[in-house]
Amino acid sequence: MSREKAETAAGFFARELLDWYDANKRDLPWRRDRDPYRIWVSEVMLQQTRVDTVIPYYERFMQRFPTVRHLAEAPEEEVLKCWEGLGYYSRARNLQAGARQVVERHGGIIPDDKAAVSLLKGVGPYTAGAILSIAFNRTEPAVDGNVMRVLSRFFLLEDDIAKPSSRAKIERLAASIIPEGRAGDFNQAVMELGALVCTPKSPGCLLCPVLAQCAGRAAGRERELPVKSKAKPPRPETRLAALVEGRGERAGKVLVRRRPDSGLLARMWELPHVLAPDEAARSRGRAAGAAALAADAAVLAHATILADAKAAGVPEAPAVADADDSAASAGAVAAGASMAGAAGDGRFDALSRGLAEEAGLLVRPVRLWSEEEHVFSHIRWKVDVYLAEFGFFLAGGREAAAGAAGGVAAEPGASYGGPSDADDLPDGWLWIGPEDMASLAFPNVFLRILNDYFTRRA
Ligand code: SF4
Repeated sequence: MSREKAETAAGFFARELLDWYDANKRDLPWRRDRDPYRIWVSEVMLQQTRVDTVIPYYERFMQRFPTVRHLAEAPEEEVLKCWEGLGYYSRARNLQAGARQVVERHGGIIPDDKAAVSLLKGVGPYTAGAILSIAFNRTEPAVDGNVMRVLSRFFLLEDDIAKPSSRAKIERLAASIIPEGRAGDFNQAVMELGALVCTPKSPGCLLCPVLAQCAGRAAGRERELPVKSKAKPPRPETRLAALVEGRGERAGKVLVRRRPDSGLLARMWELPHVLAPDEAARSRGRAAGAAALAADAAVLAHATILADAKAAGVPEAPAVADADDSAASAGAVAAGASMAGAAGDGRFDALSRGLAEEAGLLVRPVRLWSEEEHVFSHIRWKVDVYLAEFGFFLAGGREAAAGAAGGVAAEPGASYGGPSDADDLPDGWLWIGPEDMASLAFPNVFLRILNDYFTRRA
């Protein structure tokens, strides 16, 4: 497209698009005023998430944290709980960290200043552009996937939008066509066109307000654009999770743990789980012979004996209610121990060994409960969930666990240093019942598993 033609097309695009937006914009809760805090929250929620999904979350969030100060002062657990189900939880943590910066650095007022807004935690060029243009009407572009798609099609741009250089080019283009005095409306109008008309798979060109000068459509290329090189598919991982059921005083409860302070799903709650051994590792494990299995079986047998002895007044009886579970658990220690080595395609063994090694937690898997899937941006989790009986936590934590897993404590009569008191859980572990689901924040996959478990056990 020649420069002159592009300039004419840009003028047409801005004019027609704004007229269309004025007549057709959706009444969305964050469009009812120009409060920069409300715009900030909505833009963060809308990243990777559909408008329909966001609306109820946004309304609950604004009710609970109506100002930047409320958000800054809230316990993180409450913020995560309010975000639960939206995914990409680092967005919530960053938003709260940014709110705290606004309070500390700017007295609780979001600044009308590009450099200051861009320095807030979690605020990238898109969010900064959205806040500055929508709240303060600054002539700043806000270029997300929708905007890149619309502009690539309208101007017939063939740059790979996965490349940072292409994004920078489209940002410059977008900045150059923002009409005077209407930056916020223009940015929202492009996004709205991308969401409602110029959609990824089937653009509704015949209803499009800028059809008459759309170069992509004129070339018959609207469905091929934008060019985007494929991202690497998420890495598959199978996790083995334990639904450890309480018994005696803890009947009806299950054991959960808090994730580490950093990394994926930081500080959220989950069922204890370990990475499943891959096929190669499993065959290596089998080739290692009966000695290792016997050692593991002995660890588990010992765990069960000690746990049973510990649970004063609680007879050796499975806590599980199903006939299946009872049958699987009957026969006590010897059967349980051999089951741990042989049943579940080696997975009982992998789960109990893994939890002992990683967390010092001794459990006895009983049977497969459910299978779940969850896709993160870079990992695809298949989660196999096993009902399990609680043994105990090794006193001394992971170090003791390493010794036990190495076979030291598997010697007949050997001591683990005494099991931890069943009520005295290590930091970051809890027994929870259905009532606790309202206060603890879980990633979606564990939320589904636990809600399903408590419903079926009710
Ligand atoms: Fe998108 Fe079609 Fe409109 Fe062009 S005419 S901007 S391809 S919907």
